[in-house]
This record gives sequence, C-alpha cells and structure tokens, in this order.
Amino acid sequence: MISIRNLKKNYDGEGAVTTALEDISFDITTGEFVAIMGPSGSGKSTLLHILSFLDRPTSGSYAFQGKRMQDLSDEELARIRNEEMGFIFQSFNLLARQTVYENVEIPLIYNANIPPELREARVRAAVAAVGLDDKLYEEAGKLSGVQKQRVAIARALVNQPNVIFADEPTGNLDSASGAQIMEILARLNESGHTIILVTHETYTSEFAKRAIHIKDGRIHSDGPLTRRRTSKSDFIK
Ligand code: ADP
Repeated sequence: MISIRNLKKNYDGEGAVTTALEDISFDITTGEFVAIMGPSGSGKSTLLHILSFLDRPTSGSYAFQGKRMQDLSDEELARIRNEEMGFIFQSFNLLARQTVYENVEIPLIYNANIPPELREARVRAAVAAVGLDDKLYEEAGKLSGVQKQRVAIARALVNQPNVIFADEPTGNLDSASGAQIMEILARLNESGHTIILVTHETYTSEFAKRAIHIKDGRIHSDGPLTRRRTSKSDFIK
C-alpha cells in the first residue's frame, strides 16, 4: 500500500538548511498496524506530513496504492487524501458547536463518490462503530475528551479509507482514556483497517504490531512488536 525509498526532506531557513529526514525507506502493506516512534525533533511529523500528502519530499520516492506521488498533481493528492485517508489528531479537531452527526458527516460532504442519500447510513454506522450511538445529536464541545476522540475516529472511518493516520491520538487523554482509544484502534485493525500511528509514548505503541523508530531523520530500528497488551488492568498504571 505504501512504499517509500530514500526519502529526504530539507527545510530551507534563512541561510541554513535543516535536514528533517535523511534517508528513509520502508513498505507498509494493507492490514498493518504500525507505530512510528522517536523523540521530539526526530522527524515523525515531517514523515507523517509526506505520507499523508500534505508535503512533498525533497528527494526520494513515495508510492501510495501503486501511484507515485511525483506523478500526481496537488489536486489529485488532495482528492486521494480526502477520499482514501482518515485522520485522528491529538487535539481532536472537532467543530465544537456542531453535533456528533455533523462532525462525522463532514468528510462525506467532500467525497464526490458518495451520493447525499447514502450519507446518513454511513454516519450512523461509523458512530456505532465507536459506541456513541446515544450521543449522535449532542454538541461535540460538550463531550468528554475520550468521547471527542471517539467522534474523531468515527469521522476518520466514515469514508471507509484505505489507511487511518493517528497522530499522537492519546496525547490529550489520561491513561485510562488513552487505553480505550488504543483498544478501539486495535479492534479496527483486527477487522482489517490499516493504521499508522505516530507516537512518542511506548505504552501507546504497544497496541501496534510493528514499530519503526526514527532518530535524527533516519530509521533506527524497524520490526514486529510481539507483546500485545490484552486488558485495561495491564495498561493502567
Ligand atoms: P518530530 O515530529 O519527531 O518532533 P519534526 O518532523 O517536527 O519532528 O522535526 C524534525 C526536524 O525538522 C526538527 O529539527 C525541526 O526543527 C525541523 N522542522 C520541522 N518542521 C520545520 C519547518 N516547517 N521549517 C523548518 N524546520 C522544520
């Protein structure tokens, strides 16, 4: 699904160039649950921005679903991003005054492939998948943090994307709430969703099946995670 080779990213500053990614290569196949890990400043956000088509690499290649990024226009990248990728952020990024229903519906409004009459069923199914059926018409701003993140997961799911990017999804949550979110992501992965998680927290990454550690813009290690956390009591410290 994802194939990157010798990816490099420089940021040009005033008189100085920062190399955020030095030489990154890996493949991610459908159905994987990958944690991209590393300390602050290691290049995680830069890598995520490129993988999710927000930014282009300085050199190297990136193919998503067999399509090479260098062959795609900015318009095509935006369309693929809207229709084939789902996003979950640390800060939830919900519209506080809108209902759960309205928040989850937003990606469908921008998806020309889904006729309006199919939207309601899609929204209800996505909200049911995160167990928030009873909150459908509540204002998002009135929900608890973990409920907001569940709404964000429903919004990420509603277009039935090929991949879900989760950027520090537990960063604003206490550990019990973080565990709930990670259990939902693990469950979605078990049912076939490809998930790419960016985190600097080891306990969050342990829900993934593979960890790619980056350090100073290079891959430090890349391999399977064998120990899956199985219960909440194992997780809550
Ligand atoms: P992480 O997400 O792991 O904290 P980043 O990808 O944000 O790492 O940053 C990697 C490096 O690139 C850092 O040295 C950072 O200062 C630099 N950097 C990130 N974004 C920019 C930018 N827009 N302009 C200049 N330098 C940047």
